[in-house]
This record gives sequence, C-alpha cells and structure tokens, in this order.
Amino acid sequence: MDIEQFRKAGYAAIDQICDYYSNISNVPVKAQVQPGYLIDQLPREAPENGQEFDEIQRDFGKLILPGITHWQSPSFFAYFPSNSTFECMIADLLSSSVSNPGFNWICSPACTELEQVVVEWAARMLGLSKEFWGSSGIGGGVIMGSASDSAFTAAVAAREKALRRLSLEAGVQAGDNGQIEIPDEIRQEHGQKLVVYGSTQTHSLGAKAALMLGLPFRAIPVSIEDQYSLRGKDVREAIEKDKKAGLVPFLVYATVGTTSTGAVDRIAEIGEVLKDYPTAFLHVDAAWAGVAYALPQYRESLRLKEVNEHADSFCTNFHKWGLTTFDCSIFCVKNRKDLTQALDVTPPFLRSKEADAGTVIDYRNWQPSLGRRFRSIKLWFVLRSFGISGFQKHLERGIEHRQKLTEIVERSNTFEIVTTPNLSLLVFRLHPKDPKDPKDNREVDDDKLNLLNQKLHQKLDSRYDIFLTQTVLHSKERNIFCIRLAMGGVNTTFEDVKRAWEIVELEGDKVLQEDD
Ligand code: PLP
Repeated sequence: MDIEQFRKAGYAAIDQICDYYSNISNVPVKAQVQPGYLIDQLPREAPENGQEFDEIQRDFGKLILPGITHWQSPSFFAYFPSNSTFECMIADLLSSSVSNPGFNWICSPACTELEQVVVEWAARMLGLSKEFWGSSGIGGGVIMGSASDSAFTAAVAAREKALRRLSLEAGVQAGDNGQIEIPDEIRQEHGQKLVVYGSTQTHSLGAKAALMLGLPFRAIPVSIEDQYSLRGKDVREAIEKDKKAGLVPFLVYATVGTTSTGAVDRIAEIGEVLKDYPTAFLHVDAAWAGVAYALPQYRESLRLKEVNEHADSFCTNFHKWGLTTFDCSIFCVKNRKDLTQALDVTPPFLRSKEADAGTVIDYRNWQPSLGRRFRSIKLWFVLRSFGISGFQKHLERGIEHRQKLTEIVERSNTFEIVTTPNLSLLVFRLHPKDPKDPKDNREVDDDKLNLLNQKLHQKLDSRYDIFLTQTVLHSKERNIFCIRLAMGGVNTTFEDVKRAWEIVELEGDKVLQEDD
C-alpha cells in the first residue's frame, strides 16, 4: 500500500467506524454467534499471495463485527465499562503511525517524557499525594496494559524489597552503589516463605500474581456487616497465623471499589497493622473506582487520604471508566527504586549515555517487559480534549444514572439492592416481598433466593439486547448470588438504563411465575 492508497483506505476505515457508531444503538449488544463461528469461516493457512485490501477491509464488517460484543453499546452493563472515545481512537491511530517500543528514553524521548507528564497530570487530577508524583524525584508513575500487570509488577517489587530487608537484617552490607544485592542463600531461605494477602473480594489478579511468583495467596474472609470490605484486624489475624508457621508477610492487596460490589477496604486500618510487619508492602487496586477520585466529593468515601498515607503503590484503569480506549492502566509508586531495584537488568546493548548520566527514565526498568506501547498519547488527547471538568461530568453522569436507578429499584416489590451502591454500580437480586407488608422482614432463605436469581441470570444471559453479569458474594456469614448492573458507558443515556431495568423486571416476573 502506498501513501495515496493508505489515504483512501484510511478514509474508508473512518467511514466504517462512523457508520458503526451511528448504528450502535440498533445492534444487539451481545454477539449472536456460536463457538467456532469464525474459525469455521477462515482458511487454515495464511494466503500465499497478498489480497486486495478493499476485500480485507470489507471482511472486517462481514466476518469480524458479527463476533464482536459491543462494549460501546448503550446497553452494555456487564463487568465494568471499557470506555472508548473518538479523541482517543485518533490518538491510538497516531501512536500506531510512529510505532515504536519506547523502552528507553533514547528510543523515543517523546514517548517517555509524555508518559511522565500525563501520569502526573492524572495523579494530580485524582488527588494522589506528591509522593506519587514523578516530579518528586522519588516516586512516579508508569502506564501499564492492565491492573493485573500493575499488581504483578507490585508483587515483584514487594518481593525484592522484602528480600533486601531480610538480607540487611542478616548482616548483608550495601555495595558501592548503595544497593543491597540479595544473596542466593537469603533467596533460598526466605524466598518460598513469602505470603500474599487480600480478601475474598480481591480481584483474581491477587491470586494470579501470587501464582506467577509461586507463592500462596490468602483470601481473607470479609463480612456483610462491613459491607464486604477488608478489615485491619482480619489482616493481622491472617498474618499472625502465618508468622507462627514461620512464614513472612510481604504484600497486601487492598481494593478501592471491588469488582463484585464496589466495596472499599479499610486502608487506614490495614496500613496501621502493616506498620508492625515491615516486610509488607501495600498495593491499592482501584482499577475501576480510582478514576472517581477526580470528583473531590467522593474522595472521603473512597478513602483517598488513607491511600495517600498508607499505600506503597496504587493503580487505576483509565480504560475502564476513564474515557480512554483500551489499554491505559496508571500505576504509581511512592518510591520508584522499589521498581528499578527489582526490574533493572541492563545488558551492554541497552545502555545509553543519558541513562548512564542518570538524567532520564528508561521505563523498561519499571515493568516486566522490555518493549511498550505509546499509551500516554491516548491519555494526553483525552485529558486535553475533555479537560478535568469534562472528565468529571462524564463520571457524574454514570453516578447520576445509578442514583436514579436506585430510586426505581428501591420502590420495587420484587427486587432488592444487595449492598449499599457505590458510584455507578448497582448490585441487586430478585427478592419478592409480601405485597401487604412493605417493610417485610421475613427471614431470608438464601438458598432459595440464590436459585431464583440464578434462573433470572440465565434468562438475562440468553438475551442479546442487554448484557449484565452475575456475581457471588462470599462472606463470613453466607454466600449471595446476585446481579450487577454497571453504568458509566460513554454512549449510555438514562433512557437506556430504564429500558434495561424494564427487561430485568420482565424476566424477573417470568422467573416468579414459573416458580409459583
Ligand atoms: N481490579 C478490579 C477491582 C477490577 O474490577 C478489575 C476488572 O474489572 C481488575 C482489577 C482487572 O483489571 P485488568 O483487566 O486491567 O487487569
């Protein structure tokens, strides 16, 4: 393809995208295909000779779009939103146009420096303390592909930090560069005694990071009374039990805005407990809810002050509710050396005079992989186009939708809200009340209700015009099956939310009739 052919195909692609978005409200949100639908239509081998580009481009509509679940559909209420905006799509295109893996500053100075700037814009917008800002010279942030990558990176940093501390305690001296080299004996003696903690509500990223390090993950039970948030005393109890067995706590994952219910862990309590365990690192996963710190009125309920005081690292995904096309996960640390001392492996071919002089950041030393995407350009375009006020309006809209829906569900005789709603997430279940007694305080038969709600979920799941996901809330008291309705989509209006709720009510009535 030459430049003029690219120009033509590029315009056609933009037309294709515009048509897609013009029609997105009319397309069923869920892909109506069966497993293998695409595999069966594609040849087993790549073509021997190049094909006409027009034909390839047409096949995107013909073969690919039918198998797309439309996350940008106004009727997408599953998981959490994965916002995308036109501003960001253009940024992504431009980033592809200068495709480069940006691992060292010298690989593309703009790539590194823009990331330094926009991550700090984000940190300031969210109210993260100066310790997390790159301009502090000690802390700083990096853009990862996912909250899972951030959590794993935090785990590697935490493990190395704990082993350095144990080395120091064993009498190992720092080298000429001021750094502690962890001796093999310390790794062998302590490396497999390290334990990761989170709660039963921690996203699976916690257990996965532990698995990847070959270490155990303790999912500490939470209680309904505490609205599913992890408490300091339970963390202490779990740690003490392990310490008695000779194990070493090295990492706690706390969550601001859990996936199932939006619960906010008691960060201050956990932080105070961890002061007694100096090998332990606190990572706060605010993958979904963290962007809401942009709204000052929500900072207290989301425990921002506690995060600023106690967390060693923090992550939030702008690619969820933050207007930024996938992927863009902000990962900030209070001490960048926690990352570089764990991840800086520099063979001669990666050295540069700027890095040797210590005047630049080489982001490869802040992450597991070497090459990296030019993600900062997306966030730069978003934050400049929307401004902080536009970003805030977008968040407020999602919250307002949830608030209005809450009022509707609260009036319902057949549904109940399961946990105090947080931000733009509503968690509910079918729970018919006695129509003659609006206060209806009958004992809850959870097994029966769980069954009813599983049936409801099956009915909703078999529809293509709406997409909601289920969850099971595990707690010390009991397990509750319920349904989540996650708002905050860029293209969703309150009319769409109302329509979705009408469908939920309709399917709920069918379940109750069948149950009679
Ligand atoms: N953490 C929380 C609280 C989440 O809700 C999610 C996804 O919904 C994740 C982490 C996973 O994010 P990622 O896909 O970026 O790893």
